[in-house]
Amino acid sequence: KKPVIAIDGYSSTGKSSISKVIAQKLGIIHLDTGALYRGVTWFALQNCLNEDGTINLNELFSSFDQIELEFKNVDSELILFLNHIDISKQIRTNEVSDNVSLVAKQKEVRDFLLQAQRSQAEKGGIIMDGRDIGTVVLPNADYKFFLTASIDERTKRRYQELLGLGIEADEQQVKENLIERDKIDSEREIAPLRQADDAIVIDNSLLTKEQTIESILAYIQK
Ligand code: C5P
Repeated sequence: KKPVIAIDGYSSTGKSSISKVIAQKLGIIHLDTGALYRGVTWFALQNCLNEDGTINLNELFSSFDQIELEFKNVDSELILFLNHIDISKQIRTNEVSDNVSLVAKQKEVRDFLLQAQRSQAEKGGIIMDGRDIGTVVLPNADYKFFLTASIDERTKRRYQELLGLGIEADEQQVKENLIERDKIDSEREIAPLRQADDAIVIDNSLLTKEQTIESILAYIQK
């Protein structure tokens, strides 16, 4: 039987890129749940703004029936589509990063996305990465991992990732965004960022991406 794997952790600990490789090696699906929260945030920034430019949450909550989020397999990568438009690049912008944790702490938003995530796992072998996968979304996952790393290491990684995407970034701003998001994500009432009691914790500050992948695979293939 193919495994169901939950990967949680702080921002920019490499959860998604690591999960992608593990999925390929094990022949299972990879679902980046952060992309869903980013997709809803992108929608809100396009369609549900107050006059002062902040997100109008009530307008967002009454617009869920206009949001169709879908992952499509493009060259063995799952690309996020919002209402049939590829938004995989838009969801990485600073504008989305600055607003996503506010959107993600809303109960209405979490309820809206919960079933979508669970139904993916019902199909079998999957690796899902996020903040509350081992605690809330998939409490019965076969394997749970929790990734952490120092803030400076994580800042470096996110900065390089943004450069690679051609998105302009300032290292200090990247660092502040990571600290701010981790704070909101950890302190929120519903499904806070937390390691599950039965999760295996990996601090990968001093590990390469390949070494982190190896150590996760070692647990799974035991
Ligand atoms: O993983 P990523 O950094 O793209 O996630 C963006 C944001 O989405 C997080 O900072 C968090 O606010 C939210 N998120 C969440 N629960 C998840 C995944 C992401 O609240 N399972």
